[in-house]
Amino acid sequence: MEAAADSAMVLELDASAGRNGAESSKETPLARAEIEAFQRQLEHLRSWLRESIAKLEADSPATSRSILMDDADAEWQSNIRQRALAEKRLLLNEVNLAFERIRQNTYGRCVNDNARIPRTLLEEMPWARFCESCAMRHG
Ligand SMILES: [Zn+2]
Repeated sequence: MEAAADSAMVLELDASAGRNGAESSKETPLARAEIEAFQRQLEHLRSWLRESIAKLEADSPATSRSILMDDADAEWQSNIRQRALAEKRLLLNEVNLAFERIRQNTYGRCVNDNARIPRTLLEEMPWARFCESCAMRHG
């Protein structure tokens, strides 16, 4: 009886191995080459962010302000620039944290519960640091 149960178990394991990661909940570890591909994406993103942050910083109200612009317009424009700057700095920070995780070999793992972050999510946001369920909880 016991032997029969054992062989059934083996068959089940073989079957699940054959499915080759069909279940999205069971992410396989990222291969070195995959991490390197994400790292290249992050490098591009980082240089783009640094460039556009530098541009936004250089574009001070004094230089971009036209004579036709009143104070309200100037303030409105300045607010938009400040917001764009803040968003880009925030993203740059996320990107830097991702590089830190690559260095520490924890890239692709949720910082909250260590779950694997789905590849589909990393492809969208290579800087993602939360798995899907934690991302939902953290907003
Ligand atoms: Zn998580």
